[in-house]
Amino acid sequence: MHLVERDHPDTVRRYLSAEEAVAVRRFCGEGQEVRPEDVRLVEAVLEEMHDGRHVRLWLECDCVGAGASRPRLTARVREEGPRHFVRMHQYGEHRCALALFRQTPESENVGLDDDPARPGQHHPLRPVSDALDYLDNLHEGAARPGGSNGSNGAFGQRGRRLPRLGRILHTLLEDADFARLHVDALQEKSRSWERFEAYAAGQALSPELTLSQILYLKPWIPLNEKMREIDALAWPEMKARSALLLFVADEIRAGGAIKKTSMGECVVRPEKGIRAGGRDQRLTQPPYWVLTVVDRDRDGNARFREAFAQHAHSFARPVPLDSQYERITLKLLFRLMEWVKKHGVGVTLSKPLFDREVRQIDKPSLWCRPDFELTFRSAGAVGVAPRLHRLVIETMGADDPDYLARKSRTHEIMKRRGILIEHQVADDDAQQERDDAFFRRVAAKVLHLAGVPQAKPD
Ligand SMILES: [Zn+2]
Repeated sequence: MHLVERDHPDTVRRYLSAEEAVAVRRFCGEGQEVRPEDVRLVEAVLEEMHDGRHVRLWLECDCVGAGASRPRLTARVREEGPRHFVRMHQYGEHRCALALFRQTPESENVGLDDDPARPGQHHPLRPVSDALDYLDNLHEGAARPGGSNGSNGAFGQRGRRLPRLGRILHTLLEDADFARLHVDALQEKSRSWERFEAYAAGQALSPELTLSQILYLKPWIPLNEKMREIDALAWPEMKARSALLLFVADEIRAGGAIKKTSMGECVVRPEKGIRAGGRDQRLTQPPYWVLTVVDRDRDGNARFREAFAQHAHSFARPVPLDSQYERITLKLLFRLMEWVKKHGVGVTLSKPLFDREVRQIDKPSLWCRPDFELTFRSAGAVGVAPRLHRLVIETMGADDPDYLARKSRTHEIMKRRGILIEHQVADDDAQQERDDAFFRRVAAKVLHLAGVPQAKPD
């Protein structure tokens, strides 16, 4: 194995030692036993590859003979979680232990699942780490009704255990940057589809296949036409042929997701139904993000197999949300971002779709998923790097008491990520008053932390 320069892949920076190569294969090879010393070696290689801001080096594997295209790994740093390897499928597959790849040796399903006595110590919900996993393994689709990972239980409550299709949707939205918005983007005209297309074009599933060939955004394309295209593609071995349709639906009605076009209503009605993410199980508060699997049934007929839906704030700003209550909070936060901007503070809003980490010294990290986070920098004195501040916003909707109790158990953890401010939402006459109080409170906090002399919000 050797490290090559990302910008000049023909230039070998250095060869890995035998110990390093073995450590990488044990760490990332599914089913391999990891030794304690492997972790340190792997972390050092990753740090060499990714300096925290940019990828500098790729790791090329010698499991394929010289002369042929050799498989490569790159390094990625997400907003949360450690540096990790990502397979670059465009350069071909490994013939070594890395042919069966895992991002970390931690097993996916160990850990406590929301034990009330130990909040934050569950196994965190993370993005799908490998684009190839967007596709079902051959023969797996049928054995996995609804395409889920068998996690029906906890998922109306907080959505921590998302069905697999939901996890794919959240990964796509997060990676294509739909769950984060800087105040300046509020002024932009919607260019969301271009953003998706650019993102998908850069994701390889094999040397011959990119995500943009299987992910499509136009529900009016006839199913047969789409599946004929899919049939004609060079397809990864062991994977079932399918496409993913992603769009923002105007309405969900009678098991169908509806897109209104100038030609009339276009209805996507999946055979196995539409499941919902977040708190909204009735799907009566559009618009919704809808991700649908398109494939062939046993008789070879093209069909919409199943779908997953998630609240979107609006067509113009389709930030994914968990409930109608959050929509009310988000509307206020947009107004707030524009207001503090007039005072010179540029706020970035994030909607966490995966668990956020709270590091502890000498203890395992804790995990939480706030409803929203606002980050911004203080003005800072000359020569001093501006400090980053974070507010954590929780929408406390008029909801069942159990849910609210579970939610507040994690608030102690959230307070260690940033200053926690709750927004109370209920369907009564006093909402305007609560909204005004919330707006004033957040605005004052942002200006204070940013070091802006206080002014009265409008
Ligand atoms: Zn290899």
